[in-house]
Amino acid sequence: MTVILPKIFSGISNVRAGMSTRIGNESNTEIGINLSYNVGDNPTRVGRNWRKFFAQVGISEHDLAVPLQCHSNNVLKVDTPGEYRECDALITNTIHVALVVTVADCVPILLFDPINRAVGAIHAGWRGTIGLIVKRAVEKMKAEYRTDPVQILAYIGPSAGVCCSEVGEEVAIMFGNKIVPYHEKKIFIDLKNENTLQLLQQGVLGNNIEVSTSCTICEKELFHSFRRDGQKSGRMRAVICMMQ
Ligand SMILES: [Zn+2]
Repeated sequence: MTVILPKIFSGISNVRAGMSTRIGNESNTEIGINLSYNVGDNPTRVGRNWRKFFAQVGISEHDLAVPLQCHSNNVLKVDTPGEYRECDALITNTIHVALVVTVADCVPILLFDPINRAVGAIHAGWRGTIGLIVKRAVEKMKAEYRTDPVQILAYIGPSAGVCCSEVGEEVAIMFGNKIVPYHEKKIFIDLKNENTLQLLQQGVLGNNIEVSTSCTICEKELFHSFRRDGQKSGRMRAVICMMQ
């Protein structure tokens, strides 16, 4: 299975992080490697892919904390594995609690505070981005764990690039002056950049932010894309976990 390992966390022995793709030799189906039970894929195969992915990142499948994402801007502090409703971001300072994000175009963001030892995982689509969910996650890490943003290492993962993020006027209005006029009469938003700006405004250092250049819509061999493939699109997972 092809797994993306963020460079920003490489060399740090007590944190593990990764993101799945749709490539792997287990996938002899059209959908490719998929980690969601809710898109019509064979549950046995999804389970096998699920275990393989987390094993490859070095995380136990019993340690997962999974937000049941709803395009909110709610950030939840968790101390145990499990499923969590009504939220799109989790933070923890507990080892062996692996924070999971589920995506297919939306932006997965992973945060690590190596000084006060805390992590965060955020799902930011355009609604979450407008709702400043990344800003709220950093604020909650500051409040709960005394995190200094200057120390945070951040990963902004593969997601819809500005190249493919054309929006209608109703979304553009909500983004205000943040829209990117790309072609005449078309309006584009740049979610990776918006979330990067939220981190910078919170005091995270530019050198401490790794931004994936991959576009999930353009790179169809490697990534699932809801916008490209619709309801039956597979899903990818990103995860971060502190170890002993
Ligand atoms: Zn693209």
